[in-house]
Amino acid sequence: MINILIFGPPGSGKGTQSVKLAEKFNLSHHSTGDMLRAEIAAGTELGKKMSSIMSKGELVPDEVVIEMIADKIDSTKGVAGFLFDGFPRTVVQTDELEKMLNARGMKIDSMLVLNVDHDELVKRLIVRAEQSGRPDDMDPAVIENRINVYKAKTEPIIEYCRKRGIYQSVNGMGTIEEIFERLSGMIKKILK
Ligand code: ADP
Repeated sequence: MINILIFGPPGSGKGTQSVKLAEKFNLSHHSTGDMLRAEIAAGTELGKKMSSIMSKGELVPDEVVIEMIADKIDSTKGVAGFLFDGFPRTVVQTDELEKMLNARGMKIDSMLVLNVDHDELVKRLIVRAEQSGRPDDMDPAVIENRINVYKAKTEPIIEYCRKRGIYQSVNGMGTIEEIFERLSGMIKKILK
């Protein structure tokens, strides 16, 4: 089993690329953002609590996403590995993920970071808002806050992964296909 983190600021293309990569390499794709939006759509108590945090562009509490991921790790079978998208987002989440994987004889094998210019991120999120109707993409102030939260709370994970020798950076500018080819090449090497 290989475990890959796909990383990058909001709008960097993590979700789009993860869906394609999961299919190509038989990886189980887990997006905590999608899981949280599913809770909101289903009108659960958890969804109601998380929705106001998400609409401000803040992070939901670590325990909430850690529990969601733990459930998935134990219930997923018959795949070549996991592709974590939008998780972990804090150093605490990263530590917990590593512990969960270690306890099951696995580890984080690679962190692939998509690098995209700030102006391009904002442009992509505005286009996405029109298509997806995601409330957190509609408001430029919320977009800016999410990018700032990424820098403050999520980027420190890069150093954590660099120390472990699993950090790899990818050019996230270009067409979806171009970026997919770059990421596929890297995953092929990890699988060897
Ligand atoms: P994006 O990366 O495009 O902003 P996501 O779908 O990954 O979108 O996340 C949307 C929102 O869901 C985040 O702004 C945050 O409020 C919440 N969220 C998702 N994953 C996590 C996580 N691992 N930890 C804390 N909050 C999360």
